[in-house]
Amino acid sequence: MKVMKFGGTSVGKPERMKEVAQLITKDNDRKIVVLSALSGTTNALVEISNHLANGDRSSAKQVIEKLHDHYQNFIQELLVTDVARNQAKGIINEHFEFLHIILRISFSEALNKDILAQGELMSTKLFSAFLEENNIDHVLLPALEFMTIDANEEPQLGSIKIKLAQLLKKHSDKNILITQGYICKNARGEVDNLKRGGSDYTASLIAAASKSAVCEIWTDIDGMHNNDPRIVNKTVAIEQLSFDEAAELAYFGAKILHPTCIWPAQQENVPVKLLNTMQPEAAGTVITKEAGSVGVKAVAAKDGIIAIKIKSSRMLLAYGFLRKVFEVFEKYKTSIDMITTSEVAVSVTIDTDQFLPQIVKELEPFGTVDIEKEQTIVSIVGNEIAKTDYVLQKLFESLKEIPITMVSYGGSTHNITLLVPSSHKIKTLQLLNSGLFGL
Ligand code: ADP
Ligand code: ASP
Ligand code: MG
Repeated sequence: MKVMKFGGTSVGKPERMKEVAQLITKDNDRKIVVLSALSGTTNALVEISNHLANGDRSSAKQVIEKLHDHYQNFIQELLVTDVARNQAKGIINEHFEFLHIILRISFSEALNKDILAQGELMSTKLFSAFLEENNIDHVLLPALEFMTIDANEEPQLGSIKIKLAQLLKKHSDKNILITQGYICKNARGEVDNLKRGGSDYTASLIAAASKSAVCEIWTDIDGMHNNDPRIVNKTVAIEQLSFDEAAELAYFGAKILHPTCIWPAQQENVPVKLLNTMQPEAAGTVITKEAGSVGVKAVAAKDGIIAIKIKSSRMLLAYGFLRKVFEVFEKYKTSIDMITTSEVAVSVTIDTDQFLPQIVKELEPFGTVDIEKEQTIVSIVGNEIAKTDYVLQKLFESLKEIPITMVSYGGSTHNITLLVPSSHKIKTLQLLNSGLFGL
């Protein structure tokens, strides 16, 4: 068994979708094919939801109509026969009818999740219609029948395993099983999702649940690059990463992977491959238990970070101080990314301001609290990086002109983390590209 996940750009144009059909029929291995929504769809659905949340129905209607046109054109190019085109028209009309109905009912968070689910529901059904037209035997597995999250929004791997095994048994005569990425059911039994970019997470969860031989993530680039290719000109694909390195890069901003999508594959030791739909013969990146080589592999950046500094002379020689500080963050379910301490101060970073006023208020009795917003975490990742000669020297030499806010080093053997003002992010990534990689 293997998992093949295709992202938005891989299914975003009719000719791309046809290429996906070729890729999944290249061998006779049994496979679960996970699809994202057509590129641009989830963004449009978010826009519709936002308009409705603001009570702006006419703007929501405009976006719905534009999206509907896009899908009408898409099926004309994807399919050839009248029978298939009519079937596909029926599929999209049903989903757009739903979107028109929601214009008339009151907006809620549950409805928002229903709206966001339409993209993956449509892409999988349209792909299935294409396979049917081309006599490619397959079955559609509804993700909502097996992909679940608990009350803390954590995927329930145990139950996913059981439900998926039942479905795989039920369809034991099928070699190609298609399912939706991103969408799931929550603890209340409502439609929910695994957050933006969550189709990667779906793929990894399915790969772990079915103990697949490999989890292939097909996208629009030939693997994980050493730096953000959207920002830095010269970047190169990395041949091999360990699960830890890949998880770190994904969590700290490498957009190619969903932030938490590595752990399920890692837990069941399923290799993850990052491959390029537009260049299928490229080697891509292989992510396994072994790191392959020692040294710096890549840098990634995560925006929207807030630094909180708590200064107190009472911290001197006082035990229990850090516990009290951490308890505040725990109370507000806000996770801390970076932390540095000195004798009289502790600085931490968080990536959401949802409970910032409450957190600050509860920290104030401990000392002076300073907040710095609009910060970016820059993470330098590589196996045994902390032990590699000259990395720190090269790092700080190349960043002489950057006003670094925080540094975290030695917490793990494969990561050095810096905090810089977001206004210096581009320059930092560029300088590191030449300073650390000579590119
Ligand atoms: P998909 O729609 O297939 O899920 P994404 O847009 O989520 O694709 O991820 C692929 C994109 O991630 C690439 O086009 C690239 O611009 C961006 N990206 C950001 N950082 C990296 C990196 N370090 N390596 C490769 N791609 C990256
Ligand atoms: N369609 C969803 C998104 O755009 C999930 C995904 O593509 O991974 O976020
Ligand atoms: Mg993605």
